[in-house]
Amino acid sequence: MTNCIFCKILSGEIPSKIIYQDDYCFAINDINPKAKKHILVIPKEHIESLNEINDFSLMSKMFEAIKNINKQENINHFKTQINTGSQAGQEVMHLHIHILAN
Ligand code: AMP
Ligand code: ZN
Repeated sequence: MTNCIFCKILSGEIPSKIIYQDDYCFAINDINPKAKKHILVIPKEHIESLNEINDFSLMSKMFEAIKNINKQENINHFKTQINTGSQAGQEVMHLHIHILAN
């Protein structure tokens, strides 16, 4: 997707430190952290939100990534959050799961 921040980060068009990646997703630190550690887990495929997913096996891949990321980042206690739709606070229209750890 041409005008998407997360797609541009994945392609390298917008510089950002990718802290984790596998075949299905990648992770970055949130630019405006709302917890001591605030990580975004993002599918490599541009899918707008939870409302647009057809193949839900992607979600298990993303939660597997969360387990790997948390091991890498020494996170044991955390919250996950998915905002879906602008009225629910979704600002970036490319699916992502927030990991929030204090
Ligand atoms: P949401 O409100 O669920 O769409 O979350 C989008 C998140 O992306 C927000 O927490 C922003 O702080 C974060 N964000 C926006 N642009 C960037 C960026 N360039 N790098 C890292 N995080 C970003
Ligand atoms: Zn995208």
